[in-house]
This record gives sequence, structure tokens and C-alpha cells, in this order.
Amino acid sequence: MKKVKVIKIDVDKCNGCRACEAVCSAFHSVPKYSSTNPERSRIRVLFDPLKDIYVPVIAGEYTEAECNGRDIYTIDGKVYDECSFCRASCPSRKLFKDPDSDLPLKCDMCEEEPPLPEPLCVQWCLSDALTYEEREEEGEEEEKLGEMEIGLESLVKKHGAKKVKDALARLAKG
Ligand code: SF4
Ligand code: SF4
Repeated sequence: MKKVKVIKIDVDKCNGCRACEAVCSAFHSVPKYSSTNPERSRIRVLFDPLKDIYVPVIAGEYTEAECNGRDIYTIDGKVYDECSFCRASCPSRKLFKDPDSDLPLKCDMCEEEPPLPEPLCVQWCLSDALTYEEREEEGEEEEKLGEMEIGLESLVKKHGAKKVKDALARLAKG
């Protein structure tokens, strides 16, 4: 059996306070809680008060290719921009990339030892737009990549393993 962790998003309850972005970026800053910067957050809130649009989107997988098609959603008469609901870190936009290194950002469910009772964005969402659920499913636990491995994987995809290896060797020499 594997444990599946789910953050449920109720967009009708989101008021755009962006506390989730603040705490996520603080948790992942180095050293931990040393700074906040929404651009480093693994959750971003689509924000358009004039259209009453507040949609939290949580960062998913990195993809090396941008997709060929685009979707435009209209929900309850509100038109959302292209790519609005996409969770991917991809070449065609800045979302879910570290602003300094350009490396992809992916939600890690606030992995911590000892584990947190709930992910921090859920804890800080006082309007209950984010709620947390765990369930068991048939299947093996997937091997999780750490932050460094996700970054290295994207560099290898972009530049090739040899260039990355050579660069690391140069860095190691100082
Ligand atoms: S903390 Fe909750 S209400 Fe505030 S922006 Fe994030 S999801 Fe929306
Ligand atoms: S679960 Fe943790 S890592 Fe994922 S978006 Fe929420 S605060 Fe960020």
C-alpha cells in the first residue's frame, strides 16, 4: 500500500490573502524561515480582484518542452488566461521557477523530519480554501526525488549529463 497525500482546493473559499505563498517560500528558504518571496513559493494564487478571481495552483512536475496547444477556460462567466490551471514548471513561463537559478520548483508536501501534521499552506489558510487528506492506495510507494535531485535532473535534461558532470567537477575543485 502507498500513502497518497492530497491538498483539496476550494476556489470559492479563497480570498486571495496569499498567506500560503508567504509560508511556503519561508519554509523553503535557506536557512529555513529566513525570507519570504512569493516567486519562490510552490503554490501561487491567480489573482484578479476586478474579475473576482483567486485560484491557488500548486506546483507539479517539471517539463522540458512547452505544449503545442493552449486551453482557455470560462467558468461562471469568468474567462481565465491560457495556462492558468497548469501546474507544470515549463520553458514558456516563469511560474514555478526559482528567480535566481531558474531551477524548477515543485511542491514536496512540506517534507520534514519529524513530519508536520499538515502541509504549511493548509495550516496557514484560515479560510479553509486548502484542506488536507491522506489515503491508502494499492501499489508501491514511489521513490521521491529531493529538491537537489529535481534541480539536477532538470539541468541534465537541459544541458546533458556530461556538461553537468564537468561543471560539478570544476566546482568541487574550487
Ligand atoms: S491562504 Fe488560502 S485564502 Fe489565502 S490565498 Fe492561499 S488559498 Fe487563498
Ligand atoms: S504543501 Fe508545502 S511545499 Fe507544497 S505548496 Fe503547500 S507549503 Fe508549499
